[in-house]
Amino acid sequence: MRLVEVGGRLVEVHVRRSKRVSGHRIVVHHGFPPELVVRPRATEAEIDEAIAGYLPWLERQLARAAAPVLGLAALKLTEEQGRREARARCELIAQSEAMALGVRYSRITLRDQRSRWGSCSSKGELSFNWRLVLAPHDVLDYVVVHEVCHLVEHHHGPAFWKLLERRRRGYREPKDWLDEHGWELLAYRAPLAA
Ligand SMILES: [Zn+2]
Repeated sequence: MRLVEVGGRLVEVHVRRSKRVSGHRIVVHHGFPPELVVRPRATEAEIDEAIAGYLPWLERQLARAAAPVLGLAALKLTEEQGRREARARCELIAQSEAMALGVRYSRITLRDQRSRWGSCSSKGELSFNWRLVLAPHDVLDYVVVHEVCHLVEHHHGPAFWKLLERRRRGYREPKDWLDEHGWELLAYRAPLAA
């Protein structure tokens, strides 16, 4: 994490390394510090330089911080309710997908992670972010099918995407939706009790 002066105020910039970027990019999510994503081997100097390059852009972004559009703040869904509902829906989809693909999973766990929507372990354990319940159904469906496909193809190679496309032809739309709106699901503050 870096402390950077943007337009006269100190702003935290989170730095995350990712194999998915070859250079760097920056993302600003409502209610969260800006995040600079850099290639895995980026040097400190490279990170400093990248941040310096983004300063004018950051200044503009922070001036008109991304506004939420989903209206989740009005929801009264507690985490317990959300988890229960998410589990029921994830299990239903995972069961029918696993059956269609002729694979088995060992169990399903619901989590509250800041950085991921789902995962599939080498032992066949599926886990999903309960906050997916706040998304349109096809988005939750996409994440579950994505993870079940990993029971067949344990990587993100072409064979994986081909399989996913076979199971859900229109998967790019929910995938893009998550990229665009995922931060709103993460920013949702569930009331403590119903
Ligand atoms: Zn994946």
